[in-house]
Amino acid sequence: MKASSILIIYTGGTIGMKQDPVDQALKPFDFSQIAEEVPELRKFAVRIDSLTFDPLIDSSDVEPSLWVRLAHLIRDRYDDYDGFVILHGTDTMAYSASALSFMLEGLRKPVIFTGSQLPIGVPRTDGKENLISAVEIAAAKDGEGHPMVPEVSIYFDSILIRGNRATKLSAEAFDAFASPDCPPLAEAGIRIRYNTRVIRYPADWTQPLKVHDRLDTRVSILKIHPGITPEVVTVFLLAPEIRAVILETYGSGNAITRPWFLSLVRTASQSKVVVNVTQCKSGTVNMDLYATGKTLKIAGVVSGYDITTEAALGKLFVLLGRSEDPEWVKNRFGEDLFGEISK
Ligand code: ASP
Repeated sequence: MKASSILIIYTGGTIGMKQDPVDQALKPFDFSQIAEEVPELRKFAVRIDSLTFDPLIDSSDVEPSLWVRLAHLIRDRYDDYDGFVILHGTDTMAYSASALSFMLEGLRKPVIFTGSQLPIGVPRTDGKENLISAVEIAAAKDGEGHPMVPEVSIYFDSILIRGNRATKLSAEAFDAFASPDCPPLAEAGIRIRYNTRVIRYPADWTQPLKVHDRLDTRVSILKIHPGITPEVVTVFLLAPEIRAVILETYGSGNAITRPWFLSLVRTASQSKVVVNVTQCKSGTVNMDLYATGKTLKIAGVVSGYDITTEAALGKLFVLLGRSEDPEWVKNRFGEDLFGEISK
């Protein structure tokens, strides 16, 4: 079998930072220095090319334009590589991986995000293992020569999880990411175990990659909380420039039942897409369970089931970019498009 070829796209993040001797702040260094820190990469029978963003960015500065850039890079080099590894800061990695999963329709190759909590040059870094295993998984093929994981995913601290199921849970622990409602796609121990029952494989290995690169970012996120006022809710729900609202509700998708709130939700739902996502880290929205959820359903709110807020945002950006029709967006939002919801 022909050796795999992998493109590493380095966007920035802690993995490639070192302390500035003057102001002690962490600042990025270039990929050649990362490669120097990880000579193990040369031991793989894999061709590795790299591409470095200029400027490198802390992922707190990620904008949807970066996702478009990544999607175009993958599209333009799709036939040249067997897989892609994206080095990215951890802060917004779950947002970027989610968005890419909705932008890259018909994906047949691995696109693996990774990064680290400690810079790659420090002795206890988690960056080395993350990078080495991400490359190994991106290059892995089955007996028929098909990639083991043809999805957008995140590799971090021994687990590979679906990108649009990921959420950053810890600012300090090495196991910073979790996928609460979907089992890992792979786990790295002595050997890498692939969870082939969970990984999504294309029905047709010759399907073309279709890139959805028109993103409409006119979305607001409203986290419901005790004491929230009609003034605040009005801004998030009725601002004329907003086309979709993510309501982060309690538990199984419950929110305030007071008439002022329901009337605002009803008005918003007439012209906008209002979706229901739970504030809980795991479990699903079920708007038939409690009266407080039922009233939202009657008011026209669409269930996000167990989608994460990160995935809901990327899904809406892409769907709104694909259609001006709110009803079409509502219908597609309620469907499982790329494994982002359990239905
Ligand atoms: N602020 C950094 C970033 O997201 C944190 C990290 O990479 O872990 O780029």
